Amino acid sequence: MTADTNAMVARWVRPEIAALRAYQVGDASGCIKLDAMENPYGWPAELQAAWLASLEGVTVNRYPDPSGQALRAALRTGLALPPDQELLLGNGSDELIQMIAMTLAAPGRVLLSVEPSFVMYRMIATFCGLEYVGVPLRAADFALDMPALRAAIAEHEPAVIFLAYPNNPTGNAFAADELRELLALAPGLVVIDEAYGPFAAHSMLGELGRHPNLVVMRTLSKMGLAGLRLGYLAGAPAWLGEFDKVRLPYNINVLSQHSVRFALAHPEVFSAQTETLKAERAREQAELAALPGVEVFPSEANFLLVRTPPGRAGELFEGLRERRILIKRLDGAHPLLHDCLRITVGTPAENDQLLAALRDLL
Ligand SMILES: *Cc1c(COP(=O)(O)O)cnc(C)c1O
Repeated sequence: MTADTNAMVARWVRPEIAALRAYQVGDASGCIKLDAMENPYGWPAELQAAWLASLEGVTVNRYPDPSGQALRAALRTGLALPPDQELLLGNGSDELIQMIAMTLAAPGRVLLSVEPSFVMYRMIATFCGLEYVGVPLRAADFALDMPALRAAIAEHEPAVIFLAYPNNPTGNAFAADELRELLALAPGLVVIDEAYGPFAAHSMLGELGRHPNLVVMRTLSKMGLAGLRLGYLAGAPAWLGEFDKVRLPYNINVLSQHSVRFALAHPEVFSAQTETLKAERAREQAELAALPGVEVFPSEANFLLVRTPPGRAGELFEGLRERRILIKRLDGAHPLLHDCLRITVGTPAENDQLLAALRDLL
């Protein structure tokens, strides 16, 4: 029986899917969790109580608002979008990446990104049957390699380019004038993924409407609502209307629609948390840089990329895990990330524990 099952799986599962490894999420129980760019803060007790009370008004026997109209309106007010630009909601921005890829995929078409960057661009290209092209960033500072990008765009004529701004896992924000040049060169869509927008100095949202091929994607995950799964895409209705056709009905559930609207009515709570995390990022950056042989890269996100002394990333990662501190090991994930670890900025107490553990281990 098992042999029959395995034979049928081998016969029918697409080879490119069989060759993949499912997205790995490690067991973090009992750990200080500095691996996934989550906001470490919960809500103040009164806000938590008000939220729970407000849930009484939510009906779960009915389907949610299919397009999340009230939620989109609430998101708009914080964004100052030009009136001719629309919003499309996704179950996390991961779902939006998938909707864009499904809409644009056809044999021989290319999804282009840079490397190292967010691994889901490549994975979703594969799921959807798009060819993936990854152009390496500059080794020294992870900036865009413009000559290589110009050549790759001319050669592959990508249907879509994804650029994380700031980039994950490197933390830097690319130069805005270079993004504008790529927008002008690209024959297809350019998605600027601002997952870390709340922690960054600049945004491309203000450029919407100035380029026919620009859309900007954001998520509430990194600023504090990862569990609710809400991402949004801002752009021209002509693009968004097409992506909306491949969206599964009711993709944002009632609890998420309600709870995000509730949260958006208290922006001061989240902006205060963001400011604390940015201050901690600066402190942690300086303290990590003072560790012997450790290089810390500049970050406009809620994490720091560090390069350990040669050959020590694995040992430091394991040493931290034994001390119940979980970070992300990047050494081995991409040649440009040799000896690298990625550390999410936590609470001051969590960051102190991480720094003490690293001092000890080094
Ligand atoms: C975390 C992350 C996402 C995905 O966020 P969700 O909205 O939680 O799906 C997208 N892009 C980048 C660059 C990220 O780091």
